[in-house]
Amino acid sequence: MHSMKNNDPEIHSLIQQEEQRQAKKIRLIASENYVSKAILEASGSILTNKYSEGYAGKRYYEGQQIVDQIEELAIKRAKDLFGAEHVNVQPYSGSPANMAVYLAFLKPGDTILGMALPHGGHLTHGAKVSISGKYFDAQSYELDRETGRLNYDAIRQKAKDVKPKIIIAGHSAYPRIPDFKIFREIADEVGALLMVDMAHFAGLVAGGVHPSPVPYADVVTTTTHKSLRGPRGAMILCKQKHAAAIDKAVFPGVQGGPHDSTTAAIAVALKEASSDSFKDYAAQVVKNASVLATSLMEKGFHLITEGTENHLLLVDLTNKGLSGKQAAKALDKAGIVMNCNAVPYDTRKPFDPSGIRMGTPAITSRGFKEKEIIQVSEFIDQVVHNFEDEQFLQQTAEKVEKLCSAFPAPGLEHL
Ligand SMILES: *Cc1c(COP(=O)(O)O)cnc(C)c1O
Repeated sequence: MHSMKNNDPEIHSLIQQEEQRQAKKIRLIASENYVSKAILEASGSILTNKYSEGYAGKRYYEGQQIVDQIEELAIKRAKDLFGAEHVNVQPYSGSPANMAVYLAFLKPGDTILGMALPHGGHLTHGAKVSISGKYFDAQSYELDRETGRLNYDAIRQKAKDVKPKIIIAGHSAYPRIPDFKIFREIADEVGALLMVDMAHFAGLVAGGVHPSPVPYADVVTTTTHKSLRGPRGAMILCKQKHAAAIDKAVFPGVQGGPHDSTTAAIAVALKEASSDSFKDYAAQVVKNASVLATSLMEKGFHLITEGTENHLLLVDLTNKGLSGKQAAKALDKAGIVMNCNAVPYDTRKPFDPSGIRMGTPAITSRGFKEKEIIQVSEFIDQVVHNFEDEQFLQQTAEKVEKLCSAFPAPGLEHL
């Protein structure tokens, strides 16, 4: 970053500090990852100079000889990897992708049915503060109080009661695998479209360690930057019969020109995700999450659904005598970064809920395996029991840094 160092030393220095932070901390935020140098290069390329409103062969500006090929390659790779009939790679991020789906199929005031935000759904699945909850009649389903799992009988009943135009499956904080076949049946029973938002687990689907929603859903949305380990961006995968509606909704419905540098980086990410080493990564993500879950449960932590089948775990800290925010803050000081999170039927406020959420994509990308995961669970346990001991937190941060130094993170090997 020589030019930046000369032209803007302030931002240069801040990015260097963030590089250090990402290199030296155990990053357990379930939506984060480390992308490869190749993806960083594509993201930072001269493609940022181009405008290409429209789609390949139907652009509004000229000079698309190269960009058309890049976008078509990204689309082809996405179709091949996920077995999708049609793919749009232009959404700027997961939230606008979901808005485009609503625009394609709904009128203001129409009913949607998604997973409640405090139960693991996403803001864009109808939360009241989101446009999805303000412009539509947003109904929600919750997790079973006893098991903490999806209750398909209750979802079916709710769907029959509210008659949604779209049913949304998928989540940001649910440690189990949804049954997409049952969601499809429920959607058919009430005449709804089925949309699956696989933002969190797309990398696991790509790696073959999570069932694919693609055969079941009318439309699948996903971010590209979470477990899929690509640039900040999103894709919409759909059945051919919805292709025109989806494309029109993305552009000109919700967006202007696509970010061609991101499109190229998505193409690179999809090539990486088709490799055997990505399959190994995806399998290890799930294995690591499972080992972390077991190890924490052995230490008396209460896990929602008593474990995990995917890349993330949700811990209810009520029995440990501290809140999710207190734990997340103390862990951050100790070099272990995660977020506080509501647990199902949480009695605390959203800003300081009872739980913490952690995920294994980022630490798996830097090479942590079972042995390191056990070490991580021991750090977490000790920090939770000493969360007010600043000196202890500092000492743990030093141990964390030492562990991390043995596992250079992708994109940060130069540090
Ligand atoms: C992260 C996420 C999104 C939104 O992605 P952004 O890129 O942050 O807009 C949408 N849906 C789900 C389920 C997510 O987890």
